Amino acid sequence: MNRYAFPAFAAVMLLLPALPVPDFWITQSLYIGLYAIVALGLVLLTGVAGLTSFGQAAFVGIGAYTAAYLATTSTWSPWLTLLVGIALAIVAALLVGALTLRMSGHYLPLATIAWGLTLNYTMANMEWLGKYDGIGGIPSLVLFGADLGTGRGLHPLVWAIALLAALASLNLLDSRPGRAIRALKNGATMAEAMGISTFRYKITVFVFAAFLAAVSGWLFAFFQRSVSPSPFGINKGIEYLFMAVLGGVGHVWGAFLGSAVVRLVEDKLQVLLPQLIGTSGNFETIVFGIVLVVVLKYAPEGLWSFVGRWRPAPPRVRDWADAPPLPQRAKPARGEKLLEVQAVRKQFGGLVAVNDVSFDLHSGDIVALIGPNGAGKSTTFNLITGVLGLSGGAVRWRGRAIGGLPSRAIARLGISRTFQHVKMIPEMTVLENVALGGYGRSKAGVVQAVLRLDRAEERQLFAEAERQLARIGMAEQMHELAGNLPLGPQRLMEIARALATDPALLLLDEPAAGLRHHEKQALATVLRQLKDEGMSLLLVEHDMDFVMGLADRVVVMEFGTRLIEGTPAEVQASPEVRAAYLGTEH
Ligand code: ADP
Ligand code: MG
Repeated sequence: MNRYAFPAFAAVMLLLPALPVPDFWITQSLYIGLYAIVALGLVLLTGVAGLTSFGQAAFVGIGAYTAAYLATTSTWSPWLTLLVGIALAIVAALLVGALTLRMSGHYLPLATIAWGLTLNYTMANMEWLGKYDGIGGIPSLVLFGADLGTGRGLHPLVWAIALLAALASLNLLDSRPGRAIRALKNGATMAEAMGISTFRYKITVFVFAAFLAAVSGWLFAFFQRSVSPSPFGINKGIEYLFMAVLGGVGHVWGAFLGSAVVRLVEDKLQVLLPQLIGTSGNFETIVFGIVLVVVLKYAPEGLWSFVGRWRPAPPRVRDWADAPPLPQRAKPARGEKLLEVQAVRKQFGGLVAVNDVSFDLHSGDIVALIGPNGAGKSTTFNLITGVLGLSGGAVRWRGRAIGGLPSRAIARLGISRTFQHVKMIPEMTVLENVALGGYGRSKAGVVQAVLRLDRAEERQLFAEAERQLARIGMAEQMHELAGNLPLGPQRLMEIARALATDPALLLLDEPAAGLRHHEKQALATVLRQLKDEGMSLLLVEHDMDFVMGLADRVVVMEFGTRLIEGTPAEVQASPEVRAAYLGTEH
């Protein structure tokens, strides 16, 4: 965005009540701010992290009811009621999250519906929460001696919070934890392989969204001066989700756009639809449902994507030239036995994909795993890196059994990898994707990210990412969106990302697939250079010339079993291999 756009927008929203704007518009604008705070949480949760929640209205309810209850029964400062509301929402989010976020796929949306219904039912049936009537007579909000009892009084506070929440979200997304959150949407495997606990970040973003919802609820209670269960029901939960999706799930400013459109249209529809249809009811929900389907079909990135297309983000300023290097691990001595694969086995039901395969890898070696399609090479990689659990056998890393460790723990020991089917975050730049590799070598958490206290470390991360990209000849493309690259460069980007983890062993699954001849030669040069620097490599590759010119040792697999292991010359001379593999390939 233009650098004047935000200050101008902020100034207008904060000063709006001082302008001769009718009360009606102040009220509308205030609602838009309240909604946007909730929708922002959903942009991060659903749009960015891919976790759908229909239960955000319940978290708004926690903030609102806490404020209402405490304001009418105690003399606590409003700030304290805010803190209590936030604390309750966070505890609830932790509980709901801990129960549901480990489950995959569709459990979360269902669980959030159940949670929304349960909480709403509780509000409507508790004597001390006023049952269906709710709690009325909330005194006006007095902060720093100013009475914010009117819409005009409250408007600047609502919008200050909404704008701060937007900045916090933007800061978070552009940071180490933010990249981890952005990695959640495309499945856990890649993020975990970069040393990231995906569960932890799912909880983090769930709590962040609940926190924003509770703040909105607190403001809501002091705006309405009364609370009742209906604005916190499942209908409203769906509406919040609608705002986030309509505006542009994944775009922070989309939350504002979506909230504005929904608020303004909702108001008109509530008057218009009953007239058209002839009876009263919440028909606007049906209209929203239809619009949602249309938006998902024709503008799946929401309305904000039109703004984004018209005004693309400028490339990141390259301010990391003199950043000190990230910490590096002590490298194993050349010749040390690094990896022992001992009779590893993987069964998928009746299929034995990897059948008691054994081999060793010594520091500084390049070992190639070859064999026809379906031989079990990628599965062997998955067993070594902890992506799949072993059905039998053992994997040792520098003498220590690592079978059974989660893949993020294995990654942090110094084993990094690429994937046969590229796994990346297409909507992030090449540089940001590679910076994800530096995750385990850096520390900044959510609080530092939100407060922008992580900039020195970010420069280190980007310097490292650029260095690794330069190493594989991709520095020129660092500002491009990863999703826009052809397949070959995407594979190279994965290698750079794996290198950014500072590995002692690099596992490359078909790195040369999809590369053109000269790109393959360049890749071979890079891999040889890595070897010269002391890196150990295990690679799967189909291109025999590529493998034979590069590998120190070759392991041949067929139908899950190890056929032979030897030097490239031995393997090429083996009649078994000729018959079983080379014969069929050539
Ligand atoms: P390669 O990488 O050598 O081409 P893979 O390791 O990908 O082979 O696959 C080995 C065998 O295991 C294949 O028959 C494949 O269909 C099967 N397989 C791989 N992954 C799974 C899985 N997750 N579930 C079931 N079968 C699988
Ligand atoms: Mg494979």
